[in-house]
Amino acid sequence: MQNNKEWQAAFSVIEQLEEAGFEAVVVGGAVRDALLNRQAHDVDVATNALPQEVKTVFNRTVDIGIQHGTVLVLEPTAPVEVTTYRTDGEYTDHRRPEEVHFVRSLKEDLQRRDFTMNAIAMRRDGTFVDYYNGQRDIEAGVIRAVGEAKVRFAEDALRMLRAVRFSAQLGFTIEAKTLQAIQEKASDIAWVAKERIKAELDKLWVGKDVYNGIKKLEESGLVSYLQGDFQVEQWKGFSVQNATCGWAYFALIQGDQWQEVLRAYRLSNKEMAFVKAVLGAFHALQKGWTSMDYFTYSLEELEAAQYFAQLKELMNHSQQSIREVQASLPIRHRQELVVNGMDLLQWSGQKRGPWLKEALQLILTAVVNGELTNEQNHIKDWFAREYDLKE
Ligand code: ATP
Ligand code: MG
Repeated sequence: MQNNKEWQAAFSVIEQLEEAGFEAVVVGGAVRDALLNRQAHDVDVATNALPQEVKTVFNRTVDIGIQHGTVLVLEPTAPVEVTTYRTDGEYTDHRRPEEVHFVRSLKEDLQRRDFTMNAIAMRRDGTFVDYYNGQRDIEAGVIRAVGEAKVRFAEDALRMLRAVRFSAQLGFTIEAKTLQAIQEKASDIAWVAKERIKAELDKLWVGKDVYNGIKKLEESGLVSYLQGDFQVEQWKGFSVQNATCGWAYFALIQGDQWQEVLRAYRLSNKEMAFVKAVLGAFHALQKGWTSMDYFTYSLEELEAAQYFAQLKELMNHSQQSIREVQASLPIRHRQELVVNGMDLLQWSGQKRGPWLKEALQLILTAVVNGELTNEQNHIKDWFAREYDLKE
């Protein structure tokens, strides 16, 4: 696990900081994931060196969050985020603090972290610094706040949703006092920026036990302060690779309200378009997909819709492979049609108008359905007949 290039780069950064007389460790998600034998996406380093000091040790750095003490070190194998040990300043509105204070002690830095499993540091020699028994909690599969849970959630309300997200991502339980504190503080989630909430839900949807996460969302009471209807029982067995599929399924549960609900989470236009297509494909599937449906929707959209139908037990027999049906279509893209609007205008001698789009759509449908071959002459004959053109 620690052989990948992110870990190697992080260890190389630590070595160079140590040679310069500073202390540095790997912290946060990467240490937790290593203990769980999970691949980490980013391996973060924490150090007692101040940001300016970090910049003097390395040739190539980028100031990505210097006011929070983070410098990106561009190692040849991978970039590494290096953050100065810090404590958080005053929390005024249940969101991230305006200011941070740099400190020289790792213990203080670990104390500001949200959960025991996220507050473990690893030294370059592979030994751990674990003041809050994070390793014990990881072994037991428990999410436990560092320090007094109620205080920690009052500081930053997003931590409550992070607890739920981790319960889905890792299949962990939430320790009783931590869960109770969320129940008490749940309404504070309303203070948190929608973008931060969306980022957590993005991770929840692709978790290994989404049903567990949604159950925790309900048990914790957070569900009452989030936009939309979560309907716990609908998530049994739910498992997807792509967060947008999670949003599509969530949208399906909302019924007619889906656009309003998803907009509240600030989905991008691209994400909204994908969700809309999956819902379209899902509804089309109730009657069975036509060739035109296979043509219109992408493989990913059809696969998501089919998966949702299976999940809702609307389909009991396995369908023909979507990929095969798509491959057998006469054409796959609109551009492959051998005629265009100009041809129709020329053949008909008529002016542009709504009829043109309609005629092209009819031709496309007939070609996709295999009722008309995609050849100029055939299409011209067909067009002459359908539109009753005089030769
Ligand atoms: P992921 O695998 O999803 O990236 P992560 O634990 O690495 O999970 P990050 O958001 O990348 O999560 O944060 C890195 C670390 O910073 C966490 O492990 C935790 O120690 C600390 N942290 C992040 N967000 C908070 C927060 N809101 N409050 C306290 N500590 C936090
Ligand atoms: Mg991380």
